[in-house]
Amino acid sequence: MIDFGYNINADRQIDYDRNDRRLARYILEHEPTFRICISCGTCTATCSAGNFTYLNLREMIVLIKRGEAKNIKSDIEKCMLCGKCQLACPRGVNTRNIILTINRAIERLDF
Ligand code: SF4
Ligand code: SF4
Repeated sequence: MIDFGYNINADRQIDYDRNDRRLARYILEHEPTFRICISCGTCTATCSAGNFTYLNLREMIVLIKRGEAKNIKSDIEKCMLCGKCQLACPRGVNTRNIILTINRAIERLDF
C-alpha cells in the first residue's frame, strides 16, 4: 500500500443493540432527568474534583447512554458528591442523584 504519511481512522460505529445498556436503563428508571442531558459540558467545567483529577461527567453520561462506560467504577470514585455540577446544569439534571444511582448500580448490576 502507498504510504501517504497519514492513516485513515478505523471504522467506528456505536451498536446500541450489542452494547451493554443495563446501566443506562437502570439510571433512567431511578432518575428520569438523565434523559434530558444535552451534553453541554457545564457540569464538567465546574466540577470541583475535575480541578484535581480526571473526572468528566459529561463524557461519562454520553458513554453510559451508549453502553460504553468501561471505567465507570474508577471514574465515579473520584466524585466527592459536592453537588456543584447540579447547581450549574442549565437543564436541571439531577446529577448528584445520577452519581448516587451509578454507585448503587455498580453494586447491584456487578459492573
Ligand atoms: S451540565 Fe447538565 S445538561 Fe450539561 S452535560 Fe452536564 S448534566 Fe448534561
Ligand atoms: S458532585 Fe461530583 S461530578 Fe459533580 S461537581 Fe461535585 S465532584 Fe464534580
